[in-house]
Amino acid sequence: MRVVIGGGSGFVGRELTRLLKSKGHEITIISRQPGPGKITWAEVESGGLPPCEGAVNLAGENIMNPLRRWNDSYKKDLVTSRVNTTRILAQAIAASPTPPLSWVLVTGVACYKPSLQTQYTEESEWTPFDFLSRLVKEWETAGQLPENSAKKTRQMIIRPGAVLGRDGGAMKQMLVPFWLGLGGTLGSGRQPFPWIHVSDLAGIIAHALEPKEEPPSTEPDVFNGVAPALNTNFEFTKELGRTLKRPTIFPVPGFFLDAFLGSERAVILTQGQKVVPKKTLESGFEFQYPNLTSALKEIVGY
Ligand code: NDP
Repeated sequence: MRVVIGGGSGFVGRELTRLLKSKGHEITIISRQPGPGKITWAEVESGGLPPCEGAVNLAGENIMNPLRRWNDSYKKDLVTSRVNTTRILAQAIAASPTPPLSWVLVTGVACYKPSLQTQYTEESEWTPFDFLSRLVKEWETAGQLPENSAKKTRQMIIRPGAVLGRDGGAMKQMLVPFWLGLGGTLGSGRQPFPWIHVSDLAGIIAHALEPKEEPPSTEPDVFNGVAPALNTNFEFTKELGRTLKRPTIFPVPGFFLDAFLGSERAVILTQGQKVVPKKTLESGFEFQYPNLTSALKEIVGY
């Protein structure tokens, strides 16, 4: 199968590329920069989608870049980098004389309102309530194919929680303070912490790309990209400390995170959603890392 991956040069894209290549698939990455095995977004806009059986979008300005201050210009980059790339891909799929069989858009669980009690599945109703959930709405709407294209191309949306892996994402920023014994719970620690190992997220995307027998529905199929274990930030912190054999006695107050990251972004860490991968499991996907112990052991290398 030939697969085109927008943002395939990033943390999740590198893992997905490794996995798909190991299964014998051919990958073309869409990037802002030209290079071997890559095409640019401008080339897709002007020349259309290269022939492929699967398309994925993973492009987006990093939301947790600690070097970027939370202001209008950063917020605009977060939105346009996701919405514009998704729209370019969706339009190119719709215009293609040989459209792919599968179109997988990776968004996030920020659409679900943080709560200590409510459990969310892919079937849960949601309406935008803050900056990040409005972003998810606009992003997923940009990926929607017109009805005649949706009959030919199966549309899927995967909503991951925090993606854990050795080579990027949240763990890259957390490992050093935790190694130094400076790690601790964030805010109250009681907030849910939806997470997934990067290998499982790549696995869910690869599983979604596989051809299916039943005809595509005109609406996208949604899959929550989270491990089935429901954990809190406290449980994550203690498990990471145990795996690293380091103390985790320095809680980080919520007000500090609000001031450092901006409160609209700090909600990712200080609040959380209990997200259940109901449809993901029903689709037959088997998690390699269903719980924190197995995931963190693999990441830390013990
Ligand atoms: P990365 O931060 O690694 O970025 C992926 C790619 O996006 C980059 O390699 C880059 O490709 C492209 N990109 C970055 N900035 C821009 C920009 N301003 N405009 C256009 N393209 C840009 O992302 P991840 O691999 O960690 O995540 C993949 C997707 O999953 C993202 O959309 C992210 O929001 C979502 N997600 C990730 C989570 C995580 O914990 N990592 C959690 C939940 C959702 P290039 O330089 O080649 O153009």
